[in-house]
Amino acid sequence: MNETQLKKRLSRAAVWCSVLGLVILLAGAFIATTFHRALQSLALSEFKEEASGYRTQIILQLEQDSKSLSTLAALFEQSQVLDDAHFSTDLLIANHSDTFETLGYFNAHGIGTLVNTELGMLTDVDYHTLPHAVQASLTMAYRGIPDVSRLYESDISEARLLVCAVPVYQDGNIVGVLAGSTSLTCFDEILSESASSNQNSTTYLINAQGQVLAGTTDLSSPEYQSSIFSADFFDQADLNAIEAAIAREESIFSTVRYQGVRCNILVEPVGLNNWFVLCISAVTNSNHTIYQMVITLGVTFLLLAVLILVLLVYIWRLTLHHNRTLTRMAYTDELTGADNLNRFMQNLDALQHRQQSFCMVSLNVRQFKFINELFGSSMANQLLKTIAQRVRGSMGEGEFFCREGGDLFYLVFLETDACAVKKRTTALMEDIGLHTVSTTRDYRISLYAGAYLVEYPNQEELSTELIITRSRFAIQHCRDLPSTSVHFYDTQLHNTEERENFIESHMHQALQRGEFQMYLQPQINLKDGSLGSAEALVRWVIEDGHIIFPNDFIPLFERNGFCSHLDLYMVEQAMRQIRQWMDSGIAPLPISVNQSKLLFYRPDYISTLEELLQRYQVPAQLITLEILEQLSFEQTGEPHEKLRKLRKLGFRVSMDDFGSGYASFHTLGSLEIDELKLDRSFLLEISARQSNRFALILECIVKLTKRLNITTVVEGVETVENETLIRNLNCDMGQGYLYSRPIPAEEFTQRYMTRKDQ
Ligand code: C2E
Ligand code: CA
Ligand code: CA
Repeated sequence: MNETQLKKRLSRAAVWCSVLGLVILLAGAFIATTFHRALQSLALSEFKEEASGYRTQIILQLEQDSKSLSTLAALFEQSQVLDDAHFSTDLLIANHSDTFETLGYFNAHGIGTLVNTELGMLTDVDYHTLPHAVQASLTMAYRGIPDVSRLYESDISEARLLVCAVPVYQDGNIVGVLAGSTSLTCFDEILSESASSNQNSTTYLINAQGQVLAGTTDLSSPEYQSSIFSADFFDQADLNAIEAAIAREESIFSTVRYQGVRCNILVEPVGLNNWFVLCISAVTNSNHTIYQMVITLGVTFLLLAVLILVLLVYIWRLTLHHNRTLTRMAYTDELTGADNLNRFMQNLDALQHRQQSFCMVSLNVRQFKFINELFGSSMANQLLKTIAQRVRGSMGEGEFFCREGGDLFYLVFLETDACAVKKRTTALMEDIGLHTVSTTRDYRISLYAGAYLVEYPNQEELSTELIITRSRFAIQHCRDLPSTSVHFYDTQLHNTEERENFIESHMHQALQRGEFQMYLQPQINLKDGSLGSAEALVRWVIEDGHIIFPNDFIPLFERNGFCSHLDLYMVEQAMRQIRQWMDSGIAPLPISVNQSKLLFYRPDYISTLEELLQRYQVPAQLITLEILEQLSFEQTGEPHEKLRKLRKLGFRVSMDDFGSGYASFHTLGSLEIDELKLDRSFLLEISARQSNRFALILECIVKLTKRLNITTVVEGVETVENETLIRNLNCDMGQGYLYSRPIPAEEFTQRYMTRKDQ
């Protein structure tokens, strides 16, 4: 995987992980807010419960006060004590046993008696001298409606009080009013009771103006001094909302800043005197278990997200590092630090993709094996490093190279001018050549190179492998040259080599499969025109029916030695054919078989032919072995000896292609032969030059052969003129297209061979 791909994948993973982290965070935030909301609503319900508790208690307190006054009034009514002179004393006694601070009774004329357990008794007090708030309540009671007054400052006790007033009846008529004043301390007690249950909250009883009537804090605290709204207790915006709710006599729950601290506040109307219960609780729910859980959960999620992120970064860096190492290992030649073949192929691919013209050069060190052995592998390695370094130095922009392995380097020049490539490559090789392998021994390195030009747009589409192969093919041509040299790829030469490669790699298999087929060409007796014999000529019929002619493979088989196998195979085919004719009652025809020089160096040549004679039970005289005249020039006596033995066995020996090469009469003298095949070049020369000289030579040769008792066969008889000429020259036989081209043995049999009885 390359780095870009890896980065892409990692970024994708990072995005996914980030999304996951975000989801976790959001989930955490969602859970936290849900908990927070739950806590808020819990706080609200707690608050409301608390506030309604206070409200009920305050109302209860006032109702209780009002009730105890009514009970006292009823008592006065029944006991007829109102007119009693001791009434004041009775009132004082009553005050001792109740909760009122001051108790008073006013008669129908508005004149009354006030008793206070601490201050004693005041008589003949005029109702009109009392504070307005008290007067208002008394007035209500005179009308028969029990009432609780507003707060007022008492001159007597110097405290803020309120008064409960109830009517006193006698015989169904209101005869006076009983009133009791209560200080707000009882409310303080009520609120304080609750304060002990919730230490974080403060509760006040306030009026519509924000004056604190009672509260859980002590009276000296600033809240009591003036309106809780006028001081800098609240932020203005919060205060506006609170005042608006109070004006509407509605309850309000909100989180506000109170004395600089975030608090939950609840303002709840009491439903009496336009009073309100104000609960304030600081938002310090930290010791709340659930809240702690939420915080813990949130922190855990956050840590988890951070951990994932850290892990991701770590994996990212590790993977990048690993990938770089792997890439280096996969694409670099460890020894020289140059690119290796993989990377080179990729670069080459990219170049072709862009259709950019270039020249592919293969560079090799001459005798590297020898250098390795002579100087040791470490010196040889050093040499390779030096080569890589020099090659690197010779590369232009966009050019690249690699070490394929061993001492073979591939270079790509962005150059298509053969001369320029040759110049650059030669300069590079000469530069490397200046390097001495060892400081002690002066061994100069020599290199050789093969080049292949890839030129767009006229370039056929080639695989990178083929481009490399072609430059390697080119390099092979200067392998055996002595000096530093560059050879360019040649298509024609390559085609020949390719064909030869195919032939060499397929010949054994072809022999086994019977792809080498025997064709026969007739040889005609010139005297009477009868069929005298036939020459066996091989054809390679490959799988698809395509025929390869002997000139395309015999020379190669002669070089690689395979010809001796093929020739013996052909002798066998000829014998098998003769056997078949004999078995079919057909008078057999002698067959000539071409025999390469190689056979005469095979120790088993004669024994194999003997064996074949045995196997097919064919008279040896029916087989003519066609040999080439070169055989007569062999230095050793072995071929001559073998020829003699073959003739002794009964085989006929014919000298083929006489006159085509360095034919000499020495051949005729040194070799014992039965037949001379005159090369078709004689006829060609005679008809081409219209000269008698060749005809004369031919005539002489024929005369000579007659004397030596050698029959003559003339090859290449293509026309009747040819035939007339050689007949007149007294030649024995003719072979050529005039009679027939070489044809498959079966066809030959059908055309020329008839059974004796037919
Ligand atoms: P070759 O032995 O001289 O065979 C005669 C060649 O001349 C044959 O070519 C034949 O087809 C051709 N020929 C015959 N008459 C005429 C004619 O009138 N005009 C022309 N232009 N050509 C004629 P082919 O079959 O292509 O064989 C070429 C050569 O390959 C042979 O020359 C022979 O040297 C070699 N060859 C063929 N078969 C074998 C074989 O089984 N073993 C060996 N060692 N060589 C063989
Ligand atoms: Ca021949
Ligand atoms: Ca010939």
